[in-house]
Amino acid sequence: MKEIKCSVIQDLLPLYVDEVVSNDTKTLVNEHLQVCEDCKKEYEQMKGTLYVPIENKATLFSQLNKRWNRKKWLLVFGSVLTTTLLGFALFSFIFHYAKPIPYTADLFVIEEMEDGTLVSNYLGESHAGTHGTHPLAVEIDGEIKNISLIYYDETIANSPTSNFLREDKRIGSEQFILPDSQNVDAVYYGEFDLEKVIKEEQTWEELLQQMTLIWER
Ligand SMILES: [Zn+2]
Repeated sequence: MKEIKCSVIQDLLPLYVDEVVSNDTKTLVNEHLQVCEDCKKEYEQMKGTLYVPIENKATLFSQLNKRWNRKKWLLVFGSVLTTTLLGFALFSFIFHYAKPIPYTADLFVIEEMEDGTLVSNYLGESHAGTHGTHPLAVEIDGEIKNISLIYYDETIANSPTSNFLREDKRIGSEQFILPDSQNVDAVYYGEFDLEKVIKEEQTWEELLQQMTLIWER
């Protein structure tokens, strides 16, 4: 046994410390370490430094664990975010996606005040918004007329028959004064996009055909 060179033992030490040697080798190294101070010192040192990786293993494990946790959290955060976005989209759809309320005589009544001002009375439960124009001089059947265009829009939450939230506790009609309406000859109801007319994508005639004449002086 004494014939084994220290260099051979020291070559084996890392494996010995890691406990990945055969029992024979283990016994061999054990026996040598009991008689050789040099190799024992080497062994103690190696044990000292090689114990660190064992702690590192724990660290590595906790890092992996943390990483996994972060992944999990990202997943949770991601699904929360998705839910929030979906909720927001639904919210937007319910409260902001507006479309024109079709004209019906029982919902919209134009009333002329004593001074000639026109007031639009809305008789529905609720609505989202009101769109109106200042008087526009338009040639209709060869005659220049001052017309006002108007329409109301609704969302799912706010519509003539909505009872979605019942925030609108208004009793009776809601009034909207048509701007500069004393000189207005006619009021048309319906969705309009004046930009189209200005850009000549649509003629006045085409636009007014889509709308409903709801009041005439
Ligand atoms: Zn030795």
